Amino acid sequence: MRLIVLGPPGAGKGTQAQRLVANHGLVQLSTGDMLRAAVAAQTPVGLEAKAIMEAGNLVPDGVVIGIISDRLEDDDVKSGFILDGFPRTLKQADALETLLSEKAVPLDGVVLLEVDDDALIKRVAGRFTCASCGAGYHDTFNPTKSEGICDACGSAEFKRRPDDNAETMRTRLQAYYKDTAPLVGYYYAKGKLKTVDGMADIESVGAEIDTALADLEG
Ligand code: AMP
Repeated sequence: MRLIVLGPPGAGKGTQAQRLVANHGLVQLSTGDMLRAAVAAQTPVGLEAKAIMEAGNLVPDGVVIGIISDRLEDDDVKSGFILDGFPRTLKQADALETLLSEKAVPLDGVVLLEVDDDALIKRVAGRFTCASCGAGYHDTFNPTKSEGICDACGSAEFKRRPDDNAETMRTRLQAYYKDTAPLVGYYYAKGKLKTVDGMADIESVGAEIDTALADLEG
């Protein structure tokens, strides 16, 4: 399957994409992760993106379209993928249509995760990941079972994103409503949109996504 998971920052896109990777054998394509890797490696793209990301603004379309276009050439995406954090603008959505139609591999569906703004800010402010295996946690909603130790791999090293603070989050939300929210209508009009209530716990949201995917396949 070829899917997009759409929704504001903190809606659970990454968490649900990881679940789909584990349960459905899809490859996760997160432009946020790719850009953070480029920042860490200090590549030309990373140097261009660093300050933009830290301020909570969108990286230029040409940069992210280039990253995704290259990544879609790789063999591992041929059996299916889930786009997490891309497209984020109508221009990116149009570029994706072109890329996929050139490869004759249509998009199967778009899952929209709906979450209240207040909840988004609370979710983002408390989240952190294991520095070693990338498992995601939250101070309040999903703490590690044993304090300071990753449940998945036992590491004691964790990291927080520099853009996961209340002030930057406001800019990120503005970018979402201005540039990304129009994609809801764009995909609805194409008959590809499945809306899922993202307010519930991780497992319940995952189950609702599975139902939506079965619907798309059926
Ligand atoms: P994310 O991990 O998806 O929340 O993305 C983190 C940051 O990376 C965003 O706030 C943007 O600055 C940048 N970014 C990620 N994906 C895109 C995209 N598709 N278009 C523009 N900027 C992006």
